[in-house]
This record gives sequence, C-alpha cells and structure tokens, in this order.
Amino acid sequence: MSGESAEAERRMRFLFALRSHGVTDPRVLTAMERIDRGTFVRGHFAARAAEDVPLPIACGQTISQPSVVGLMTQALAVSPRDKVLEVGTGSGYQAAVLAHLARRVYTVDRYRRLVREAQQVFRDLGLVNITAIAADGSFGLPEQAPFDRILVTAAAEDPPGPLLAQLRVGGIMVLPVGQSDTLQVLIKVTRTAAGYEYEELRPVRFVPLVEGIGPDE
Ligand code: SAH
Repeated sequence: MSGESAEAERRMRFLFALRSHGVTDPRVLTAMERIDRGTFVRGHFAARAAEDVPLPIACGQTISQPSVVGLMTQALAVSPRDKVLEVGTGSGYQAAVLAHLARRVYTVDRYRRLVREAQQVFRDLGLVNITAIAADGSFGLPEQAPFDRILVTAAAEDPPGPLLAQLRVGGIMVLPVGQSDTLQVLIKVTRTAAGYEYEELRPVRFVPLVEGIGPDE
C-alpha cells in the first residue's frame, strides 16, 4: 500500500472509532479530523497516534483516548462565541480541538514543562486563540472568569467549588469525578439561574487532579 493510501486508511479508521463510540456531532468530527494527534505525542508512541487508545506523554501523564476526547467535547456543546477553560493541558490535543470550536480557550496545567511544550505546538499550528498557563486548575482562572464552558481532564473527588463558581449562568462543565484508583464517572454540570443540574454520562478513567504546581522536570 502506498504511504498516501495507508494514511487515508488510518484517518478512516480514526473517524470510524469516533463514530462507533457515539461521537456524531459533525462539528466535533470535523475539528478532530483536522487536527493530527501525532503532533501532540512524542517519541515512538507518535506512530500509534491514530489508534483509539490513551498514550503516555511527559511528566507521567497521558493524552486521552480520542473517542473520550470526542465524547467530552460533544457533551460540552461548544458554540463559536464561547470562552472555554480547560483544566489539564497535558499534550494540548484537547485544547486544540476546543480551539476549532470556540472563540477563546484558556488551558492550565500544573506542570510548566507540559505548558511550554503545548505552547510551542499551538504556535506551530497557528492556533492563536489558545492561552496556556501553568497553574493549579482546581482554583480555576479567576482573572478570566466567568467561562461559558469548562472542561476538566483530570479526576477530582467532587467538582471543585471555584470551578462551579466560575461557570457562567447557562454554562456547562464536563468533568470526571471519583477516586483515582477506582472507576470514575464523567458528569455534565449545567448552571441555571436556580443552581446546578448534574447528569451522569459514562464511566471513565483519568489521572487524578492533584493540588499545587508540579515539580520542574
Ligand atoms: N487534556 C490532555 C490530557 C490531560 S491528562 C490532553 O489532551 O493531552 C491530565 C492533566 O491534568 C495532566 O497533564 C496533569 O498534569 C493535569 N493536572 C492534574 N491536576 C491538575 C491541577 N490541579 N491543575 C492543573 N492541571 C492538573
């Protein structure tokens, strides 16, 4: 098979995996088709970037499984005017997907190294509407609040209070909750004028949300 048709087949399989896991929103599928996940994975794991599996990145963290990225993005129902906060930049892949759908994306990670490397990829890809910041995301990003959408890609035992507070009325937050060594559940929180509504989406497994800034690596 020529390199080109092998690449076309990989892309088809990638999209098929997304669809068969329930990612059907055309805007999400288009955004994910446009972004090469391989750009966000280093070393020999880059060859497996089109597979629907989580992969290791620096600082002992992981880039999520594409179908989980797709389902979380879909549940977030991002519109083109939205200002979005992502907690857990990791490789920057999820933030890049969000940047294709939203007006502005702020993404924070507790590891400076991950933030630096993601910033470089965003520059290389010309994704000028993402700002990546090294910070403890369990406190949100008060200077940019409120947010229309918040996506957390590390698991807390409960939704962190500062994140609930920084969600605009009418806004949506999607996050995994539960203990790190057991199965967690992905939940969708909608802020209404009266309070917060919670919906359980599906079981997931994420690295834990850890307090404080990570050590320099
Ligand atoms: N969204 C990422 C995957 C995230 S893995 C991607 O697309 O590649 C989870 C990330 O959450 C890790 O990089 C970890 O460092 C980060 N994290 C954990 N606790 C955090 C906290 N309190 N504040 C900010 N980031 C945190």
